Amino acid sequence: MYMSKFVLPLKLHTNHVVLFSTLSKAVVKVDGETYRAIESRSWDDISLDSVDCLEKMGLVVKSLKNESIAFVNAATNKSKNADNHFNLHLLATTACNFRCSYCFQNGIEHQALKTDDIDAMLDPIEKYLCEQKIQTLSLVLYGGEPTLNWNFTMEFIANLTSRLGAHNIKYDTQIITNGYALSDEKLSFLSLHNCKKIQITLDGCRDMHDSRRRHNDGKPTFDKIIENIRTALNKNYIKKVSIRLNYDKENIDSQIELLDYLAQEFDVSRIHIALGCVTSDHAQQAGDEGNELSSTVYTHDDILENDNHVRAYISLYIHAKRLGFSMRKFYTINGICIAKRNHSVLLCSDGNYYKCGGLVGRINHSVGEVGNELVPYSYHKSALYDECFSKECEMMPLCHAGCRLDAFYRTGALDGRDCKYNLVKNINLELLKINYDDATDLDSKRL
Ligand code: SF4
Ligand code: SF4
Repeated sequence: MYMSKFVLPLKLHTNHVVLFSTLSKAVVKVDGETYRAIESRSWDDISLDSVDCLEKMGLVVKSLKNESIAFVNAATNKSKNADNHFNLHLLATTACNFRCSYCFQNGIEHQALKTDDIDAMLDPIEKYLCEQKIQTLSLVLYGGEPTLNWNFTMEFIANLTSRLGAHNIKYDTQIITNGYALSDEKLSFLSLHNCKKIQITLDGCRDMHDSRRRHNDGKPTFDKIIENIRTALNKNYIKKVSIRLNYDKENIDSQIELLDYLAQEFDVSRIHIALGCVTSDHAQQAGDEGNELSSTVYTHDDILENDNHVRAYISLYIHAKRLGFSMRKFYTINGICIAKRNHSVLLCSDGNYYKCGGLVGRINHSVGEVGNELVPYSYHKSALYDECFSKECEMMPLCHAGCRLDAFYRTGALDGRDCKYNLVKNINLELLKINYDDATDLDSKRL
């Protein structure tokens, strides 16, 4: 037996060690002696039951070679979507009612899809779903701002769902929106169409948010967004709203205040908090010369070499957790994202298919024209894992060789590796410290 390659250990002051499997996500707390025995493979020093338990949790394995092969095979299968799930991102328009300086879509042309073209758009998608024996579909309303061009979206959904019904394909809808125009009517419509996720971004408390998330016509936006979140929850259009807190060097304090405000205003059990770091990469690469980037956004070097960024993330995480909001227990940059899956496409209003939201509007990254045949396509490259294995990286299941878009920014190639090892590892170590009370104590499992 061997300790799995994918174990992140955290040594505690109490002489215990928390073991986190980045692959199975199992977390267990063992005493120092047991940990040393696992590390040195002194299996006779650990009870058989404990070894059995560790193996079931994926923390120890019979063969490291088989574990590596199984990991790569599972990732490759997932990228081929063995689960018969299709992810369709609809960009009904690339226009937006906000003007955020850091938007990665700054600089691209704004276009909108037209209702007359819906059948032509959906014919190849329906053909693909049938040929690939798709059983479930998630429709993600994305943009631009997806609450604009709404009449188109309603007709698109009506047409799509009738086709899905004919093939017995189940579906859910999701929306990623700035929340400003997410009216009662739109929420009601989404709710009637199996709405599973509403993600709204806030940049801080009222004044901070309004200064950063500016409406096109200069109006403040914060109060209207809060009102819409309240409607979504009070009218039970959805169980939980996911609020993404975008943070950089400027707004950490305001985001802490915002968390307090949200906890006062809403039932925390109905709000999921996600933390998003604002970086200079996307907007800079958008080539929008006229867009003045704030000096307060994180640069690539800040993220990789400066632990201020980790401290900022953790201070927000701890505060949100104390207030009782739901949050993910581990940190991942991307994993097997939509760009790495065959069964996914972004249908963009510029008339092209894309694989990643960061590439829309960049025609050289189109993977086909809307209305043309849709073919399985993925940016997953299992060869990229070779270098990660050679570095004995235990974070692979949370990273999968990194984000293709960031790799493009760094290397100029979408099939390059994007390594943020220290960032992923350090944030996860901090999260283990915060959450380790949840770890099962192996002692209690011994007979
Ligand atoms: S490549 Fe990066 S930005 Fe694009 S979908 Fe994947 S994780 Fe997201
Ligand atoms: S890119 Fe870096 S962090 Fe990601 S799996 Fe590879 S070695 Fe690990």
